[in-house]
Amino acid sequence: MSDDPQGTRLDRWYSRYASRAHAMRASEIRALFSVANRPEVVSLAGGMPNISGLPLAQLADTSARLVRDFGEVALQYGSGQGDETLREQITEVMALEGISAHPDDIVVTTGSQQALDLVTRIFIDPGDVVVAEAPSYVGALGVFRAHEADVVHVSMDADGLIPDELDATLTRLAAEGRTVKFLYTVPNFHNPAGVTLSLERRRKVVEICDRHDVLILEDNPYGLLGFDSEPLPAMRSMSEDGVIYLGSFSKTFAPGYRVGWAVAPHAVREKLVLASESAILCPSNASQMSISHYLEHYDWVGQIKNYREQYRERRDAMVGALEEYIPDATWNTPQGGFYVWVKLPYGLDAREMLPRAVTARVAYVAGTAFFFGDEGHDHMRLSFCYPSPERIEEGVRRLAGVVNAELETVSIFGTAGETRQRLVDFPSPDVS
Ligand code: PMP
Repeated sequence: MSDDPQGTRLDRWYSRYASRAHAMRASEIRALFSVANRPEVVSLAGGMPNISGLPLAQLADTSARLVRDFGEVALQYGSGQGDETLREQITEVMALEGISAHPDDIVVTTGSQQALDLVTRIFIDPGDVVVAEAPSYVGALGVFRAHEADVVHVSMDADGLIPDELDATLTRLAAEGRTVKFLYTVPNFHNPAGVTLSLERRRKVVEICDRHDVLILEDNPYGLLGFDSEPLPAMRSMSEDGVIYLGSFSKTFAPGYRVGWAVAPHAVREKLVLASESAILCPSNASQMSISHYLEHYDWVGQIKNYREQYRERRDAMVGALEEYIPDATWNTPQGGFYVWVKLPYGLDAREMLPRAVTARVAYVAGTAFFFGDEGHDHMRLSFCYPSPERIEEGVRRLAGVVNAELETVSIFGTAGETRQRLVDFPSPDVS
């Protein structure tokens, strides 16, 4: 196999694939999934919501009643744009983040992941540029790759995307004659960076994109999951014709129904419906009716409050464990969402270290998964959403053992000079 490292000879149809198929590869998260899910491994890798507190018995009764009393609709094909009652309810959900939308503006999708694919399908020709935060959601990067976009990253700090850098990047790309089709951004409790775009910066980003004639794709699955504060207004509430907004019930209710949505300027919305019909005909009626029933008859706002409390406790467990066991790492303490983005001390490489971490029965996602190019080696994403606080603490303790063993290897096998250089390049953190 040495002359055929990709194993392509085993794939009879390899030479017939469209060029975009070559850009499709298993995300680093998927590749990890099978090992990380073994019970003995503490997985700080996946972003699975902890749905154990949902009223499962009641939801089962609801499903049974839906099929028994409304089965002829629930089990039938439906509208490509999505169920009208649900679209009306979605306007109420979005009002919590300052968005006033009409149900006609909304397209229901199979999770916001499908909406990401549809928007990209509509806007991207091979070689077009998507500007995105550094780092960015791995599932969005996968979609952009599959459609042969080129992703140009813009840095973030503790207040999210840096507007001046965005402005300079858009100016440079225009001067180079590159077509920027949209800015992809996750403004709240970013995946993976954990940070939130400040209110002042939201206004700036909208102004900059408007000035450069660049559409904004605002992806917001975590906005209602702030631990201590009320949600900030969405950028969609500041610009109706400059922003496509994506929402999801995956994190505020349950991902298994696979219901998300897009809100888009009128003409884009029509294209989204056409693109969705060609991909899936229509979103699942059964799922949409289940969500609609849930929003009408359950205390969904109370459930979100439960989630916020549960995730705050887990965030505290993770940050406390990091402070105790890996104090030389750096991170921003997230104020909501699922993730802590950790910079490893002394330039350790999170991807190289991962097999040793899994052997030590702890899993994370290496930072490299969240960049379009070969960056992010010194970072890892730790998710606190799923394991219990005790498991989180145990996971970070195991991780600390791996980090310390790695540091010893560096000091034994690196030359003294190299090791010193590393220490100089990566000074001890002053933020955590
Ligand atoms: N966007 C972001 C930023 C996400 O983190 C996720 C899921 N992890 C999605 C979109 C997709 O979510 P879903 O398809 O379940 O709505």
